[in-house]
Amino acid sequence: MPDGPRAHLIHIDVDRRLGHEWDEWDGRPLPNQGNYDSAPVLFFVWSAMTILVGLALVALGLYLLTPRLGGLHPAAPSWLWTAVLVTASILLVWWSLLFLSHELGRPLLPERLAERGPFLRLMRSTSIVASRFGRRDWVENAAVKVYNRLAVMRGRKVEQGELLLLIPRCLSKVTLDGVLGIAGKYGVPVFVATRGQLARRVIRERRPRAVVAVACERDMVSGLYDVAGKIPVLGLTMTLPSGPCKDASVDLGQLEQWVQAYVV
Ligand code: SF4
Repeated sequence: MPDGPRAHLIHIDVDRRLGHEWDEWDGRPLPNQGNYDSAPVLFFVWSAMTILVGLALVALGLYLLTPRLGGLHPAAPSWLWTAVLVTASILLVWWSLLFLSHELGRPLLPERLAERGPFLRLMRSTSIVASRFGRRDWVENAAVKVYNRLAVMRGRKVEQGELLLLIPRCLSKVTLDGVLGIAGKYGVPVFVATRGQLARRVIRERRPRAVVAVACERDMVSGLYDVAGKIPVLGLTMTLPSGPCKDASVDLGQLEQWVQAYVV
């Protein structure tokens, strides 16, 4: 080992470990003390806008390509415009049935065509559009509420050991105690998911028949998008009074309701 000058190792003490969903957080307090509680209608407004924006972009692309497409086959532009109109009509009917299911409290679509199917894609796309306008967390909060309402309507029941409770590492001590108390009361195994990948792995390995997941809006929407198509999930979002990834709290009454929805 040469006896030359040695570099200094710089240690930075951090009071939290941010999840990658919060990479761009600037350290300032979150709006409304990290409480993004929103009415479900917010999701319907933003999702309708997302669908309209998507259709408008497709129509614009088709309009610009029409002269070239006409050169390939004279009927090609009219076929493609018809396809766009048919797609728009199907989306309108589907979105309306989703809205009515939510408002009437009756499942008008099978789950594969609703909360365990294209709804997850719409939720994700809507979140991307809302993030461009700085409204991501509010819209995601509303989206998770709509998702839960649709999922609860199915009235699915499982045995105690078949339910898994997934919680994040950022819960405050008091909240964690409350969560463990509920899990103990209903005999539900609890897993602390330090990262989304681990959560997916524990689901693969333990093969629960249903999951109740706790996470912030951002982690919840990406987790539901990845998992809810494969397994029934109810999601509970959190309040982040100390900023992201630290001392989060949840509505324990709502958590108990979600556990009861599956096991009682
Ligand atoms: S669930 Fe908690 S730890 Fe995970 S990204 Fe959200 S705030 Fe951070």
